[in-house]
Amino acid sequence: MQSSFTTQPLGRVCVLGLGRTGFGVADYLADLMPGRVTSVDLYGGAQSVPGERTEELAERGVRVVCGTDELEGTYDLAIVSPGIPESSSFFASARAHAAVLVGEPEFAWRESPDRWVAITGTNGKTTTTLLTTELLQAGGLAAKAVGNVGVVATGEVADRAEDCWFVAELSSFQLVTAYDLHPRVACLLNITPDHLEWHGSLEAYAQAKERIFANLDAGDLAVVSVDDDPCRAVADRLEARGLRVCRVSVHALPEAPNAAFLRGDRLVVRRDGTEVLLVHRQNMALKGDHNVQNALAAAALALEVGVPAEAVCHTLTSFSPLEHRIEPCGELGGVRFVNDSKATNVDSVEKALTAFEAGRVVVLLGGYDKGTALDSLARAVAARCRVAVCYGAAGPRIAAALRGEHAGLVVVEEAHLAQAFQRAVRLAERGDVVLLSPACSSFDEFSSFHERGEVFKDLVLRLGASGALA
Ligand code: ADP
Repeated sequence: MQSSFTTQPLGRVCVLGLGRTGFGVADYLADLMPGRVTSVDLYGGAQSVPGERTEELAERGVRVVCGTDELEGTYDLAIVSPGIPESSSFFASARAHAAVLVGEPEFAWRESPDRWVAITGTNGKTTTTLLTTELLQAGGLAAKAVGNVGVVATGEVADRAEDCWFVAELSSFQLVTAYDLHPRVACLLNITPDHLEWHGSLEAYAQAKERIFANLDAGDLAVVSVDDDPCRAVADRLEARGLRVCRVSVHALPEAPNAAFLRGDRLVVRRDGTEVLLVHRQNMALKGDHNVQNALAAAALALEVGVPAEAVCHTLTSFSPLEHRIEPCGELGGVRFVNDSKATNVDSVEKALTAFEAGRVVVLLGGYDKGTALDSLARAVAARCRVAVCYGAAGPRIAAALRGEHAGLVVVEEAHLAQAFQRAVRLAERGDVVLLSPACSSFDEFSSFHERGEVFKDLVLRLGASGALA
């Protein structure tokens, strides 16, 4: 059964982008022709070429335009995929040709606005989104993870059950084009420098993230970390607006009536002054301070929508690490191997390092160089690692930053991931952890962090098969 959703006509619609989002939206709209939708034009942009998917859509009446950033004609609505920067000529052309322009999650929300939980942050979004979804399900609620987790929300609207919660992971790119999106509960996990080449500045990036709360009102709940300065400022502004704000901290004991924190090693959520005692952190399958932060946020979100504390506790102990996020992938000759390929920025590596014994980590760092400042990474690596193997396009710059930081750390360089892995294996000692936590995106060598993580796991498997470390 369909959840309450809008039935007003959409008119002439254009969709920008030929990725998962663009295709998902075009599919949805094609089903609404000729009723609510008069026409659908799908623009791929200057570099795009037609393929199987575009042919299928063309057969269903969608007009596909490839090879140009220039739109033609006028539209009632433009729906933009998150990969297209606001500053691009493609985006500008859509603005000029459409009466209304929105991003995809905004469109999905307009189509089906009830029961949204929304989650953003620099790091931890996917973990928190999937954990929250499981918590809701454990509490007997219907729930579906959507958004940046890889599930286009619009594609889930048509079959959405009336009582189903959408737990939406929203990236800063998606939030830039969200205007009316109004989740019932929204969460900001952290803000640290990332994607600055896309947003222009840390301020612009932080403002995009803060938009997740733009439409909350007094009956809603904002779950906000107070462990970094930009987030703390957001929490203060939301309170000044009169919103209920649950302050999340791994390090402090917030006194606010709504808060989520550690007391000793126990996770606690305070709800309008009443404390709910949850699990001890050592009983969680997720490790590291950052995962305590994710768990506190997810628990606060779940309790708010009515999940019983017992169900929260049960799932917090059973929920295991996701693929490519501090994912254990074997132990050979007393050396553990861990795949954290999803650590594509500096902060995620700094957090990952806290999950292991200091001085026993052989870390693999490198990949596509986003040009981020490296001083805090260098300090964290020097404090917690024995060896750093730097590789890929960013390898030399990272190695230089590490060498400047600490004489005791062994810093070596290799050209590619496979050589870096072999070198790490040669340098690892019994009791060490070989950790791929690269602090960079993967595009200099791989198509995605998934592929990079798979290659790493395959290297571990082959090492095992070779018997070299037995
Ligand atoms: P996102 O979807 O925001 O990229 P993920 O849950 O996929 O987040 O985790 C991405 C990377 O960030 C992983 O390397 C993970 O270990 C690390 N990480 C997860 N949660 C946090 C957090 N709360 N703070 C910092 N780093 C985190």
